[in-house]
Amino acid sequence: MTATLIDGKALSSKVENEVKERVEKLAERGVTPGLATVLVGENQASQMYIRLKHSACERVGIASKNVALPENCSEETLLSRIAKLNAQDDVHGILLQLPLPRPLDPRRAMMTIAAHKDVDGFHPQNMGALLLGAEGLVPCTPRGIIYALEQMGADLQGAEAVVVGHSNVVGKPLAAMLLNRNATVQVCHVFTKDLAAHTRGADILVVAAGVPGLIRADMVKDGACVFDVGINRVEGKTVGDVDFEAVKEKAAAITPVPGGVGPLTVSMLLSQTVWAAETACQRRA
Ligand code: NAD
Repeated sequence: MTATLIDGKALSSKVENEVKERVEKLAERGVTPGLATVLVGENQASQMYIRLKHSACERVGIASKNVALPENCSEETLLSRIAKLNAQDDVHGILLQLPLPRPLDPRRAMMTIAAHKDVDGFHPQNMGALLLGAEGLVPCTPRGIIYALEQMGADLQGAEAVVVGHSNVVGKPLAAMLLNRNATVQVCHVFTKDLAAHTRGADILVVAAGVPGLIRADMVKDGACVFDVGINRVEGKTVGDVDFEAVKEKAAAITPVPGGVGPLTVSMLLSQTVWAAETACQRRA
């Protein structure tokens, strides 16, 4: 079997078209959705991610601006800058680019972002709502994976789902989202004793470990649906966590790296920013 490619670029352009229509509807009410990103320091990868997010905003008509703070910025400065964005009516979404330079505490900074502007879905209030099954603003990568599964018509109810990686950004929120859709979910991580024993049973396998080549073909069930979240640089190339060439001969569907989960993550950020603007409009009405 050669797997169907889950084309993240095509899915994300579909999302962008939907987002554009929602932006036009907001314009009829005199509202332009606004995203503010906050970048501390000069991490090159972070600068590249910020550029990608701003050009995506531009494509769909979201007004975006970046607040650049110096590497040695104090916590007080960072938190007061975020508080200022919280108070601005034209800013509907705030995204704090991680990682933060030490000794800044990302958790405290995240908690300073107003929950209704937290378009990355990391605020405890939004995470709590997600766990309770009331999904509002949720982390963008898991939302993108769920969107792709829904577009593929995957039946999640009772599906055996295995998530490799238990980060707050991907693994934990994704596990909650799959549970909310009645999948049977196992979460594996670096201390899991026999990873293959778990992954071999997965109808849906999501890998977010940051370890190139972690998932080999013999660890994948025939006909599984495989999402490779990993982004690794190996010999000048960007690769995921899955041995793509071998696994695609076994899986029914698989995401490539690049061009799979990454573009979906960005388009979910756009969708959530517009959702935050729509919700702000409803609150004012
Ligand atoms: P993280 O570094 O916070 O956590 C890694 C997780 O993988 C942990 O739960 C750890 O226990 C687990 N892990 C590590 N080695 C393992 C092993 N040998 N076996 C099993 N589990 C193992 O990771 P993160 O922030 O969730 O990111 C994971 C990967 O996904 C990274 O490569 C990151 O760049 C990528 N990422 C991609 C996107 C995207 O949009 N495509 C978004 C977020 C993260």
